[in-house]
Amino acid sequence: MSDDFVVGKNINSYVGPAGGWGALSASVQTLKQERAINAIPALMKMNQPDGFDCPGCAWPEPGKTTITEFCENGVKALAAESTSKRVTREFFKNHTVKSLWSWSDYDLEQQGRLTEPMVYDQEIDQYTPISWDAAFQLIGEQLRMLADPNQAVFYTSGRTSNEAAFLWQLLGRTLGTNNFPDCSNMCHESSGVALTESVGIGKGTVQLEDFEEADLIIVIGQNPGTNHPRMLSVLQQAARRGCQIVTFNPILERGLKKFIHPQETLQMLTGTSSSISTHYFQPIIGGDLAMLHGLIKAILTADKTQKNILDKEFIENHTSGFSEFRDEIGRTDWSVIESESGLSRAQIEEVASIYCNSKKVIACWAMGLTQQKHAVSTIQCIVNLLLLCGNIGKPGAGVCPVRGHSNVQGDRTVGITEHPSESFLKNLDQQFGISSPRNSGFNTVQTIKAMESKSVKVFMAMGGNFARATPDSSRTAEALTNCELTVQVTTKLNKTHLAHGKKALILPCLGRSELDVQASGKQSVTVEDSMGAVHASIGKNQPASAHLRSEVAIVAGMAKAAFPKNQKMWKALEDDYGLIRDKIESVLPKLFANYNRKIKKPGGFRLYNSASEREWNTKTGKARFIAKLLPILKLPNGQLRLMTIRSHDQYNTTVYGMNDRYRGIFGTRRVILMNSKDMDSLDLDQGQEVVIQSHMEDGRKRKVSGFHAVRYSIPQGCAASYFPEINELIAVEYFADRSFTPISKLVPVTVSKSTE
Ligand code: SF4
Repeated sequence: MSDDFVVGKNINSYVGPAGGWGALSASVQTLKQERAINAIPALMKMNQPDGFDCPGCAWPEPGKTTITEFCENGVKALAAESTSKRVTREFFKNHTVKSLWSWSDYDLEQQGRLTEPMVYDQEIDQYTPISWDAAFQLIGEQLRMLADPNQAVFYTSGRTSNEAAFLWQLLGRTLGTNNFPDCSNMCHESSGVALTESVGIGKGTVQLEDFEEADLIIVIGQNPGTNHPRMLSVLQQAARRGCQIVTFNPILERGLKKFIHPQETLQMLTGTSSSISTHYFQPIIGGDLAMLHGLIKAILTADKTQKNILDKEFIENHTSGFSEFRDEIGRTDWSVIESESGLSRAQIEEVASIYCNSKKVIACWAMGLTQQKHAVSTIQCIVNLLLLCGNIGKPGAGVCPVRGHSNVQGDRTVGITEHPSESFLKNLDQQFGISSPRNSGFNTVQTIKAMESKSVKVFMAMGGNFARATPDSSRTAEALTNCELTVQVTTKLNKTHLAHGKKALILPCLGRSELDVQASGKQSVTVEDSMGAVHASIGKNQPASAHLRSEVAIVAGMAKAAFPKNQKMWKALEDDYGLIRDKIESVLPKLFANYNRKIKKPGGFRLYNSASEREWNTKTGKARFIAKLLPILKLPNGQLRLMTIRSHDQYNTTVYGMNDRYRGIFGTRRVILMNSKDMDSLDLDQGQEVVIQSHMEDGRKRKVSGFHAVRYSIPQGCAASYFPEINELIAVEYFADRSFTPISKLVPVTVSKSTE
């Protein structure tokens, strides 16, 4: 073993529950590591009606919040933002960009909060201080110099507030482009495409209250214990009242097995954990669609004998396409279902019987589904399953794609999309006297290819870590360096800031937990959670530096420099975010009527969701059964199906720590979780150093080395490893049908002993 990897130290199997004392000590550890003392009082305001929204995931707040309405990973997200560590001009003076390239994502993150605007100086290969006005002037000039507005790209990460996102799209559309790639392209785009076609809206249909009524909750391709931890307390409540919780996940995730609620004294004192999943199945990676075909086949068969399972009145009055779909399922053979799902007919029929005896069913999913080649078909098959018994648009039932980033759904709602609707653009043009472009813009994959071909000159990012979150990371980073100008609006340093254009700016913004004061006083922003509820977020902490500006003020600054004639309008929007919300209301009246009044109500309001009201804005005017032939996914011998995962000390590309406690991985991220039989057949010892090579259609050699093989509960022929490190193995061109979402679940790889 070349590096200091030690099996007993770096791998220590963990069979305990999620949550519990481990969550408490990890939270305290993070606060210490970040020296984030001021985060503690702020925690009492996080996710509270008069407080700020957690900068972590998009799990909703309950109507009645507890005094500590946060989880371990919420503490990590806040501590990372409230750290007392600072990246000052001295730091940049002591480090060339070239030298920083060898730093890990974690080491860059650990440097702390940025404190002032920086501009890249090619002469000395360093970032140096620049004034805000000079930075805005540079951007204004560069944008005005463009021969074609489509030479500019406006990327958005899901942490951006509704107000900043609305101004961001207004800036781009005033310039004349629809190039709005966003992090949703890489996460739930497949859900949006699938649901819009099937039920007429690209969002989930359930609310938090529905989890209190469901008698069956199906969780597919999701790991809430790490990525949406407060969901575990909701599942715990459901399990306690006898709700069946059926999980499908290739990996055995602790959070979906056992959980101790850190805020339940009795559980903490006695160590008595709650079981979460009543049934846990591990299909092969990519086997979900076959499993769903089998489930539906078994239910249709059961209905033939028992005659009262399907909701025939609902199918008759609310759906279209049932008979073609039923015939397609009828044609799928059980042997194919078993081999393509990796599950036995008996296992699938067991779940079918639970479904048949349930009245209210919720289906939840996340990246484990959306980042597959057939993600859109798989998600439409989930809809098919629920439509069989009218499980959409009634209390206790519905679809629940669980979003990652805290406002990724909100950004899309207020116009961050490369495919805007005509009604949105018409209202926008009327409101602002502009003529927005009508052609579709670039999504994430298209943006990378456009930068590679040098047809994009200006890349501007509102947050995020584009070069690490995307596939073919080194290739993406190189494409970024082709730009004339790159602009990164951010709170902390990351690798993408090192992949700079000929000119480059780093513009430090306020964090979600920080006070935002503009000319009209303290400002609140709004976010939309995973279930379509919009609420206010008001920062409390003093900003990390006096030189920081809010996302809104930064966009307004850019716009005033780019469009001097509209200075007054942009200044007014910057001074009072209530005016921005008035504009959003004018452009999206059906969704945001009385916007400013409604967000004053504790908890805010829920956006109208047509499908949950059984109003189907689809091609047929009904909820659609959409039948798809079951694809056969065979890999050549010796190749494994690799999926990317996140560790428990990570949030998207942000690495808070080097441990993954629930999986028994400590102090390292360069591991590949493998099935024991596969390791034996490759003659690999526990912790053996390996090289992982992917097999993409473009034939390019993509290899990563210095990884260690770890025996883990995962089906034979399957493996898992952390993103973003593994993104190097995935080709930009390797994306899901119809949604362009990079396929990070089922990357064909071979694993071999390292010879170094
Ligand atoms: S569940 Fe998500 S939103 Fe809630 S506190 Fe945890 S990380 Fe934050």
